[in-house]
Amino acid sequence: MPPFPGNIDMEVILQTETDRGYVEVDLGAITRNFRICADKMQHGQKLLAVIKANGYGHGAVPVARRLEGEPGLFGFAVATAQEAYALRGAGITSPILILGYVAPEHYERLIRSRVRIPVFRADQPEQIAQAAARAGEPALVHLAVDTGMGRIGVRPDEEGMAYVRRLLQTKGILAEGMFTHFARADETDQSYSQLQLGRFTAFRDRIREETGFSFRYCHASNSAAILELPEAHLDLARIGITLYGLEPSGEVDVVGPGLTPALSVKSSIVFLKTLKQGESVSYGSLYTAPEDRRVATIPLGYADGIPRGLSCKGSVLIRGQRCPILGRVCMDQFMVDVTHLSEVSEGDEVVLLGRQGDEEIRAEEIGAISGRFNYELVCLLTERLHRVYRE
Ligand SMILES: *Cc1c(COP(=O)(O)O)cnc(C)c1O
Repeated sequence: MPPFPGNIDMEVILQTETDRGYVEVDLGAITRNFRICADKMQHGQKLLAVIKANGYGHGAVPVARRLEGEPGLFGFAVATAQEAYALRGAGITSPILILGYVAPEHYERLIRSRVRIPVFRADQPEQIAQAAARAGEPALVHLAVDTGMGRIGVRPDEEGMAYVRRLLQTKGILAEGMFTHFARADETDQSYSQLQLGRFTAFRDRIREETGFSFRYCHASNSAAILELPEAHLDLARIGITLYGLEPSGEVDVVGPGLTPALSVKSSIVFLKTLKQGESVSYGSLYTAPEDRRVATIPLGYADGIPRGLSCKGSVLIRGQRCPILGRVCMDQFMVDVTHLSEVSEGDEVVLLGRQGDEEIRAEEIGAISGRFNYELVCLLTERLHRVYRE
């Protein structure tokens, strides 16, 4: 035997990774969440499942494979060209829309892959037309309209109208859709969303009157608006955070409609010891034992996406009980207090996020404690954490 095997068995590597800790994704929960939101749509209105940022950390390809073919699904929305290629590479054939600016280097390949490109910049129609000519196929585009988010999009005014006319006259471009994005749909007071929706539909109507053209798909709603603003559903709605069972904000109820979180983070105790009175834990010795304490070491850290902001705050679940985090969270490990558990051993399951027994730690709770937004928390679970899929 050579000292280092040339052929490392991937199964063995993945198994070991799973032992250190893993992200468990319940695809059944994602399907149920999708169906609950699809039921809120009227006849003919469809959903675009937003699976940018690797499906908010849940895994874009497994989520897309699971949802493809669901009644009520129009297709998928992503943030970047690379995310679109990854889906096409995995055999996803549904419509895909990119939601942000895409550099011209990608246009030809995106056109060939039938990926919808958002347009709003002055230089885009010409560049896209050239790429369409090279590809020998028309480009499908969605016009982004800025009705009050102030991010991307043409304004719904005279200048916007001139842009639309130019777009409609450009050979090789099929203007399939127009969309806008709400800045405050996650607030109880929907007056700003109403204002945005009014500007959007007025612009849509003006385009129809002045050019005779109707965009096939008009869309405005995000998750919050899907739950709270039915008049904004139009032709398509973009479902992101609620697909994963998480809250758009504290002002939007997701428990009432029956949405459930799909993602858990699990690990196990790798080391147990007694910390003697006066001894301390982790960098900076921020925790010193007031008397003898039982302390467990968990082999995950901020390089896995566990917020360092949980240092000396927050807790994990072991044997169905909350165990407080002691001292600083390190890059790859952290410690918790298990003194109050009647029984505990090395190898015990540790739930950092999700349910164990009757207890649950939600992304919103960890977000609030660590100063990290719930969307951000799940997106930032790193690739080092292996994803395990369950039904
Ligand atoms: C991310 C995003 C969404 C999804 O928002 P959620 O709040 O997660 O539902 C919808 N539309 C656009 C343009 C986005 O960028």
